[in-house]
Amino acid sequence: MKKSIGKRRAVFLDRDGTINHLVGYVNHPSRLRLYRFSAEAIRTLNGRALPAVVITNQSGVARGMFPEWVVEETHRRMIRRLGAGGARLDGIYYCPHHPAAGDSPRRCRCRKPGTALVRRAARELEIDLARSFMVGDSPADIQMGKRIGARTILVMTGYGRGEYEYNRSKWKVAPDHVCTDLLAAVRWILDRIDHGE
Ligand SMILES: [Mg+2]
Ligand SMILES: [Zn+2]
Repeated sequence: MKKSIGKRRAVFLDRDGTINHLVGYVNHPSRLRLYRFSAEAIRTLNGRALPAVVITNQSGVARGMFPEWVVEETHRRMIRRLGAGGARLDGIYYCPHHPAAGDSPRRCRCRKPGTALVRRAARELEIDLARSFMVGDSPADIQMGKRIGARTILVMTGYGRGEYEYNRSKWKVAPDHVCTDLLAAVRWILDRIDHGE
């Protein structure tokens, strides 16, 4: 068993539908619209020294819908907007692939529910995955979180409400908690930690 002493727990965050409004593909940085509560939620994690790390699938790149630099520029914009709200991300990791698109389509290990991105984050940021949390609006987020042994929270923003109301009988795995939005998720996480969990 790997030692986890000295490693930190983290909160992994999905991007689209969790931090920013779901608008289809963000194929231009100007399409990024943060939820009004996102800066407060991430600022709250910062205040508790809990790394806030974004894990996002951006298959629009493999699909040829926008170049990869648009993803990077969108993330710079997200960092600036969050920064204006006093919030800081500790890392952003994205998968640009799609199993059925691109020059050499293949099943990558980083597209959620794959765990390659989150495992890389764990190595680079010295994170203890099993003590961490994953927040997202899609079953793939919850599946990924379960695979790494983290606790999982489904938010009702983005695809969350529809998934919860119409699809939950088909889910392969259930989230540990369901709540309205990212801020509520952060409060639930802090409550668990404060109770020594
Ligand atoms: Mg999402
Ligand atoms: Zn990938």
